Formats: sequence, C-alpha cells, structure tokens
Amino acid sequence: MDRFVSIYNDKVEYDLPDNINIYDTTLRDGEQTPGVFFSIDEKIEIAHKLDELGIPQIEAGFPRVSENEKEAVKRIANEGLDASIICLTRTKKEDINAALDADVDGIITFMGLSDLHLKVKMKKSREEVNQICMNAVDYAKDHGLYVAFSAEDATRTELPKLIDIYKQAEEHHADRIHIADTTGSINPYAMRYLVKNIREAIDIEIALHCHNDFGMAVANSIAGLMEGATSISTTVNGIGERAGNASLEELIMNLKLLYNKDLGFNTEVIHELSQLVSKYSEIPIPDSKAIVGNNVFRHESGIHVDAILQDPLSYEPYLPEMIGTKRQIVLGKHSGKAAVAEKLNTLNIEVDNGKLLEIVNLVKQEREKGEDITNDKFDEILLKANIQR
Ligand code: MN
Repeated sequence: MDRFVSIYNDKVEYDLPDNINIYDTTLRDGEQTPGVFFSIDEKIEIAHKLDELGIPQIEAGFPRVSENEKEAVKRIANEGLDASIICLTRTKKEDINAALDADVDGIITFMGLSDLHLKVKMKKSREEVNQICMNAVDYAKDHGLYVAFSAEDATRTELPKLIDIYKQAEEHHADRIHIADTTGSINPYAMRYLVKNIREAIDIEIALHCHNDFGMAVANSIAGLMEGATSISTTVNGIGERAGNASLEELIMNLKLLYNKDLGFNTEVIHELSQLVSKYSEIPIPDSKAIVGNNVFRHESGIHVDAILQDPLSYEPYLPEMIGTKRQIVLGKHSGKAAVAEKLNTLNIEVDNGKLLEIVNLVKQEREKGEDITNDKFDEILLKANIQR
C-alpha cells in the first residue's frame, strides 16, 4: 500500500468532470512574482519538466512584454513538447501579433471587468470595453488561434455583467472563458455559486485562475470543478503575484489522493520540478509547504519514528516515492531509542540497551545545547559514549 488517507473521503460523492485540463502558468504568472526572472534556457528546462509530468497546456509567457520574452515563448512553442503552448495577451492587436510571431497554439486575452478595474485602468464605458474585447477575440480567431477570453477580477464583477461578456465571447467563437479570482478573495462556496451560474448561461469550456491571498486557491479551484469548470490554472510551488497561485503539486495530489481523481500525471517528477523552479526563481520552498516542503517526509519525534520504522503510513498519508523524494529521520531532542538504533544500524554498530539509552540521552543533551545532530556530531557522541568505530 502506498497511501492511507482519510477513510471519510470515500463517504462523499464528488461531481468532478471526466476530463480536467491543467494549464500551468509558472512561466507567466509565476515569473510575475516580484524579483523573479527566468532566462530563456531556464524557461525551456522548466517547460520540459512540466511536459514530463504530463501537463497538457503550458502558458509560456507574455510575448508583448519584451523581445526576449517573445523569443522564449517561441522557443518553447518549437520544442516539440506534447503540451499545447499558449500565452497571455491584452486585447490589443500588437499583443496578438506578438503571440502569432511566437508560434503559439493559442492565447489567453484578458480585460479587467470589475467597475473598479474599468475606472482605474480603462477609463472607458463598459460597452466600449466589451467591444474592444470582442474585436480581440475576432482578430485572434481570424488568425487561427485557440482563444481563451479571461475576465480579470471576475470575482469582484457583478454576475449579469460577467454573463453578458462571456455570452458575447461564446457568440464570437471563443474556445474558453476564464474566471479570474485576481485578488484571491472568493471562498469555495461562493466559487461554486459563481461557476454554477456561469455554467448555466454558456456552453463553452470554463477555466479558473485562482490566487492564494487567503490560502484558498486550490480549494476554490476544486470547488469550481464540481460545478462544471474543466480547466485550472496552476504554478509550481504556488509562486506568482502576491500570495501566488493555485499550487500545481497541491492540486494534482489533492485530486489524486483526496478525491480519487487520478489524472495520469507522472507524479514522481514533482519533487524534481519543484526544486528546479525554486532554484531558478530563487524562491526557497517553506519547510512546511504542503507536498514539496522539506519537512513533509522528515521526522524527529520518538513516538512518530518508532511507528514509522514499522509502517510509514502510521504518520504519513502517502509514501514519499510517489512524488519522487525520500523520507528523512532526524535526530534531536524528541528522538527515542528506535531512531538512534536505526541510525546505529546504518553504521553497522551494535550496542546493548544500556549503551543505547546513554547515546539517546547524549543526543538530547547536544540538541538542547543548540547543536544540530549532523553525522560529525553523531560521531562525537559515539566517542563520548566510548564506542569505537
Ligand atoms: Mn494572475
């Protein structure tokens, strides 16, 4: 058995769609994290790793931002990946032309449609802005692109206004509409209400782009899936503007293990992908980060270690190999005999029970002095206990 999650997960029916498309935006929204810059080669390497994981769609960038960015998107589009390659554009012809130059399969063209965004950014009437959006959809469709129309700030835009623009997008043959929770400020129940109402009004595919300002991005994404959204935007390690986006690894592992929705990804690539994005983004992964944090499969407590050495699932919901990583047993003030015996075992050292207790106590004492119990420190402890190696 490689997993043992809550037995109550199976007590509920989950109305999830048969086909769920994940479009990863690490290379676009992730790169918009303040201070993050990926070189072209780094972007290509990340794109390959996303492809190896099995991500069906990669949002590779925002070509209109710079010539370098356009080049990066173009290179990724021509790498022969299995994933389809899309990019971001505003509703401007210049942006869509830049996307065409970059050889992408499709675009996400966006407009902030809340009253606040219209007032602050566009300074035009809603009718005029809607017309600009549809001109962009028409132009991109005329040029053979897959077109997703995204209402930025959708979760702060009144429903009739949203439904009106999404219906127009459908009439103009957009392939997909996006509901962007740009400020990460909706809750999962409200997301269900919103998606349900939009699902009833239009027939084309619905995508969600959720930010994590309240730690709800993955929960909101799954809530939306239950009401008929079929595409979800993610980033590796959840990077992105402010509190970031729905985390790719959390979404995949939630669906696979908590909702029994295995999308067929090569999850054993997750750890490596996470490390790669952390390295190139120069954003360290918090030790306690779900799925990919350093402490997720790291144990010190004597009670836990004793049980884990008999059966890891006693204190882990799934085995680390599933995401391509390994368990670590750390010696410290909470260590007990089992962890120390296991450590001695790896060093081929045999001791009697009295000696074992002596070493356990020395480990605790050293740790309480503030020392990390490294391999060197453990050797010192063995010397103190008069054990010859
Ligand atoms: Mn965003």
